[in-house]
Amino acid sequence: MLNTLLPILLFAALGLAVLGALRRVAMWRRGRASKVDLIGGLLAMPKRYMVDLHHVVARDKYIANTHVATAGGAVASAVLAILVHGFGLHNRFLGYALLLMTAVMFVGAIFVYLRRRNPPARLSKGPWMRLPKSLLAFSASFFLLTLPVAGILPENFGGWLLAVILGIGVLWGVSELFFGMTWGGPMKHAFAGALHLAWHRRAERFGGGRSTGLKPLDLNDPTAPLGVEKPEDFTWNQLLGFDACVQCGKCEAACPAFAAGQPLNPKKLIQDMVVGLAGGTDAKFAGSPYPGKPVGEHSGDPHQPIVNGLVDAETLWSCTTCRACVEECPMMIEHVDAIVDMRRHLTLEKARPRTRAPKSSKT
Ligand code: SF4
Ligand code: SF4
Repeated sequence: MLNTLLPILLFAALGLAVLGALRRVAMWRRGRASKVDLIGGLLAMPKRYMVDLHHVVARDKYIANTHVATAGGAVASAVLAILVHGFGLHNRFLGYALLLMTAVMFVGAIFVYLRRRNPPARLSKGPWMRLPKSLLAFSASFFLLTLPVAGILPENFGGWLLAVILGIGVLWGVSELFFGMTWGGPMKHAFAGALHLAWHRRAERFGGGRSTGLKPLDLNDPTAPLGVEKPEDFTWNQLLGFDACVQCGKCEAACPAFAAGQPLNPKKLIQDMVVGLAGGTDAKFAGSPYPGKPVGEHSGDPHQPIVNGLVDAETLWSCTTCRACVEECPMMIEHVDAIVDMRRHLTLEKARPRTRAPKSSKT
């Protein structure tokens, strides 16, 4: 029975993932135009991921090794699962390859689980807490389902009860990994993160380059806004970059303003931009709030002004533009560009420069 259901399940999940991808791309395209090398960026993306991104991730050896096993195992397992269980290529060699990759992914997922048992304060909770279980469900289910393909166990081993359990495991794992990647949830970072690396607005950062200067305003284009008032005023690849955030909180831990109790947390700021991109409130944010500002009181959408809706002006003015958040971010997100863009709107369009230092919640 599972052999009949598996292809339907896998291709239905893939179809939903494609629909979700189209929806996400439409959301990013609400932003302003930005010139990027679309094909060149896609071709450069694997190297940017393997070298530049992992250069930052490798500062935390535990999570770097865990990520190699989990992400590498997941990508290889997904491709092999589609070949073996989707297209029905019941070849012993493919079966052993899938067994190996699901085993690697399972080991990686155990380490993700251990990290999440007592997570540091900088990590977001909420849906991120279910991710290790979803990864375990995916890898364990496909491992067991593939044993007959490799000739290790007979077809229909274990009876109907095991078949039902494995079916639930596959449904859970495939939901998280396939259509969760484009519809929302922790795996969204895999899709948005890969494209963010491909179409990064500071491509000169890759290959060991530095790019820290402020981006000039385009004064030749009379239609270009002076700074950013609404989420749709960001360029499309800035919106894409916000969507790539994994809520690891490395930026939060590095931020001097957050440490000083100023009403700024760069992780929350990026998540607020994601709320602005999709529309909604910040009530579901499961991390540390801006110091002194409770979660759940801000909301926005792509067409609404950000300041006093999603974010207060004092949050933007709390930033020292030190770029510690940018340096620490494993997804290479550009917090400072976003903050400066919003400040430019306040000063150049609203004549609202910073007048006094924001209050610290620690004084
Ligand atoms: S640039 Fe701003 S948000 Fe980033 S770490 Fe420095 S003070 Fe914090
Ligand atoms: S912005 Fe970067 S460093 Fe901050 S939580 Fe997101 S991924 Fe982590």
